[in-house]
Amino acid sequence: MGRIKKILVANRGEIAIRIFRACTELKIPTVGIYSAEDRGSFHRYKADESYLVGEGKKPIDAYLDIEGIISIAKASGANAVHPGYGFLAENEQFARRLEEEGIIFIGPTSKHLDMFGDKVKARQQAIDAGLPVIPGSDGPVKSVEDVSAFGETYGYPIIIKASLGGGGRGMRIVHSSDEVLEAYERARSEAKSAFGSDEVYVEKYINKPKHIEVQILGDTYGNVIHLYERDCSIQRRHQKVVEIAPSISLNEHLRNEICEAAVALARNISYTNAGTVEFLVADGKFYFIEVNPRIQVEHTITEMVTGVDIVHAQIHIANGGNLHEGEAAIPSQKEIPLFGYAIQSRVTTEDPLNDFMPDTGKLMVYRSGGGFGVRLDAGNGFQGAVITPYYDSLLVKVSTWGTSFRDAAAKMDRNLQEFRIRGIKTNIPFLENVVRHESFLTGNYDTGFIDTTPELFE
Ligand code: ADP
Repeated sequence: MGRIKKILVANRGEIAIRIFRACTELKIPTVGIYSAEDRGSFHRYKADESYLVGEGKKPIDAYLDIEGIISIAKASGANAVHPGYGFLAENEQFARRLEEEGIIFIGPTSKHLDMFGDKVKARQQAIDAGLPVIPGSDGPVKSVEDVSAFGETYGYPIIIKASLGGGGRGMRIVHSSDEVLEAYERARSEAKSAFGSDEVYVEKYINKPKHIEVQILGDTYGNVIHLYERDCSIQRRHQKVVEIAPSISLNEHLRNEICEAAVALARNISYTNAGTVEFLVADGKFYFIEVNPRIQVEHTITEMVTGVDIVHAQIHIANGGNLHEGEAAIPSQKEIPLFGYAIQSRVTTEDPLNDFMPDTGKLMVYRSGGGFGVRLDAGNGFQGAVITPYYDSLLVKVSTWGTSFRDAAAKMDRNLQEFRIRGIKTNIPFLENVVRHESFLTGNYDTGFIDTTPELFE
C-alpha cells in the first residue's frame, strides 16, 4: 500500500464518477463534494461519503472553493485529491495549497501547471525541447502595430490567442490587415473577461489542419511513455465534439515523430502524471499548440485501444509508484498494445436545430445504448434526473470500439440510434449525421469540417 488512504474528488458529473470507479477498483475509499444545486446529482451518491461545498456561493464557484475543499478533505481524512478536468484541475494555487497541507494532488506539480497554464510559456518550453511550433509572435504582443507587423511578415490569415485561454475560447482569426484593429481589441476584452488577463499573442493561422494530440504519462522516477494519439479534428467552434483513437490519417513515420516529440517535451521538463500534448498537422508537417496538464474528457478512447487505465495510472504515480512496477504495471513503450479503433461522441443537452442552445428540465425517459464494444460515461444520465442550467451540458460520453475504424463507427451509429431520451433535447441527431458522413468515414476532414458542412445540421 502506498501513502494514499482516501481520495477526495474535487469535481462533479461524469468525471467524478469515472474517478470514484477507479478508486473503488483500487480499494481506496472516496469522498465527494457537491454544490447546493447538485443535491440530487448522481456523483454525490457514487462516492462513499459526500459533503456540501461552497455554501452560499454561486454554482460554479462552489467547486472552486479551495479552502472549503481542503477543510472537507481534512475533516474526512482524505489525504489525496483528484481534480478531474475543468474547475481547479489546472489551478496552480490549489495544487500549492494542497502541497502546503500535506495533501497529495493527483496531477503534475504546481510548477508544471504554471508552465502550461500560459500558452506563451508553454510555447517556449516546446521550443526549448526542440519541437516544431507554429510561426508566432515572440511572446505576448504589446500593441496593434505588433499584430499588423506580424501579419505583414508572415501573411494573413493569422490568429490572435489569449495567453491564458482554454476551452476553445479567446481566439480570433484575422483574414486581412483591415480586420486587425477590431480583432485585437475584441480578443483582448474577451480574454480579460474570460481569463482575467488581456494578454494575447499571435500565430500564423494554419489552413485546414487536423488536431492530433498525444497522451503521455510520466512518473517520479523519470519514466515517460506515450499512449499514442487521438484525432480531435471534429470540432465545433474550436471545441471537440467527436474524437478518434488512433488517427486514421497519419502514416507510421509521422505518427512516430509526433509521439516522440510529445515524449521529448515531457522528458525535458521531468513531467509527472497524465498529460496531453496537442499538435496541429497540415501538409505532412506537425506543430505544437499546447499541453493540457490533466486528465482529458477524451481519455476513454485511448484506454479502449491500449487497455491502460489512465486514472489508475494517475493514482499509482501520485502514490509514488513506478509506471512499470506493481500490480498494474504498464509494459515498456514498445510493448504497449494498440488494438483496433475507438470513437467518442460527446452527447450534450443542446439543441442542434437551435444553434446548440442548452436545454434544461427533467429527463422523462432515458434509455441508453449498449452491447459489444461500448462504453458509457454518464453524469446525470438517468430517468427523472433534472438538468440544470448551471454547469457544462455534457450528458453522456458514448465511446465505441471496433477492430476497424468503420466497425467502431458502425457501433457508434447503432448506439446513438438506440438512445431514447425524452423531456430534454440532445445533440444525438447531429452526432449521427457526423458519424455517418462519408468524409468522416474516410478521414477526409479537418478542424473546419463541422462549420463548413451544413447538411450535418439537418
Ligand atoms: P484551447 O486551449 O482553447 O483548446 P488550443 O490552442 O488547444 O485552444 O486550440 C483549439 C483549436 O483551435 C485547435 O484544435 C484548432 O482547431 C484551433 N487552432 C488553434 N490555433 C490554431 C492555429 N494557429 N491555426 C489554425 N487553427 C488553430
